[in-house]
Amino acid sequence: MNVLILGSGGREHAFAIKLLESKKINQLFVAPGNAGTDKIAINIHINPTDFLAVKNIVLENQIKMVVVGPEAPLVDGVHDFFLADDELKNIPVIGPKKDGALLEGSKDFSKQFMQKHGVPTARYQSFTKDNLEEGFAFLETLEPPFVLKADGLAAGKGVLILNSLKEAKEELKEMVSNQKFGDASSTVVIEEFLQGIELSVFVLTDGKNYKILPSAKDYKRIGEGDVGLNTGGMGAISPVPFADKSFLDKVEELVVKPTITGLQKDGIDYRGFIFIGLMNDNGNPSVVEYNVRMGDPETEVVLPRIESDLFDLFEGVANQTLHEKSFSVTDKTATTVMLVSGGYPEAYEKNKVITGFDAVKDSLVFHAGTKIENDKVLTNGGRVMAITSLGNSIEEALEKSYKSINNISFEKMNYRKDIGFDLI
Ligand code: ATP
Repeated sequence: MNVLILGSGGREHAFAIKLLESKKINQLFVAPGNAGTDKIAINIHINPTDFLAVKNIVLENQIKMVVVGPEAPLVDGVHDFFLADDELKNIPVIGPKKDGALLEGSKDFSKQFMQKHGVPTARYQSFTKDNLEEGFAFLETLEPPFVLKADGLAAGKGVLILNSLKEAKEELKEMVSNQKFGDASSTVVIEEFLQGIELSVFVLTDGKNYKILPSAKDYKRIGEGDVGLNTGGMGAISPVPFADKSFLDKVEELVVKPTITGLQKDGIDYRGFIFIGLMNDNGNPSVVEYNVRMGDPETEVVLPRIESDLFDLFEGVANQTLHEKSFSVTDKTATTVMLVSGGYPEAYEKNKVITGFDAVKDSLVFHAGTKIENDKVLTNGGRVMAITSLGNSIEEALEKSYKSINNISFEKMNYRKDIGFDLI
């Protein structure tokens, strides 16, 4: 079967490598892809939110399944577009329709959903410029730090955590009245600050049945010791040592089951991944956010631990037979370290020649911001490559990742040397 993956990051390269393990895949296409996917699949240079261009690729190449990597095409309704088109409607899309994608596309919607279905989450209220004064009053009922979230997608920048009440009020006004994050902050969710340690749990669902995928912890800040600006993610570890069986059982009972049945009760036919951002507060889970796709770089540690045929699982999602599919995960630990362009997440240069990655033996190299020009692999983004290793312990896996990185270089290459150290 021919399959198309939409996206261009390390997540999509990891999907591509994993899917190609399946004997059922004939030809894989990635749009737009990167230098890594170019080697193993056919890259097609279109924008994944240009649905007519996606349609043309699908029809021209007899594609029989589409796997959506990032959230934007889902929130924009790529799945709905397929269902509404006579030529595409029987081609399964792995990823929710617009109604399900609201779990990520609107924080107000996702908080309402959690409250309605009894999923543990921080107490909250939502405000617009029309009830700004009530927003100020609600802030006064909370203890610092104050958490303000733009309702819509804001490229991971729409959440503010502030220590002073005065500043929180000013920022609220900036968000709703002066559109600090554009339309995305016309509505703002204000919520209680949650204590605890963060981790992510991933679920694959066909709308009725689900599989809980390995948990992961990511490292968001640019600087060692988790300081400095937020990034798309500098590394990740799976499994998460502080998410033991008793905690994960609670996550399944208190979060996963009510989420899946809640979607059904609300008439949302959800086929795809749910990324659940959680706080572990003394063994009790509380949901920070839902995302409607896999995380990046979490995918680069989650997929290498899955022993089952991913394509077979996707067929289960498409046919609502996920419960019939075998699913197993290795006990080994996976670590990934992201190599980034110097200057990222602020201004950085592209088009630097990357060398040495082909010689890496003990790790998996997932390309993110890379491209090929004149047979040379060049940097093409802030996050360039994720170097994943498996080991019997976090230490063993990390040692392999860092050893592999010693072989790789490009001008101004930067990476965190402390991924996972807090867990050792
Ligand atoms: P991203 O997609 O980049 O993870 P986002 O913009 O979708 O972020 P959230 O995940 O809701 O927003 O929040 C971003 C981060 O802010 C969280 O990962 C968490 O560290 C912190 N955070 C959010 N809500 C709370 C809360 N109620 N209490 C404590 N920390 C929080």
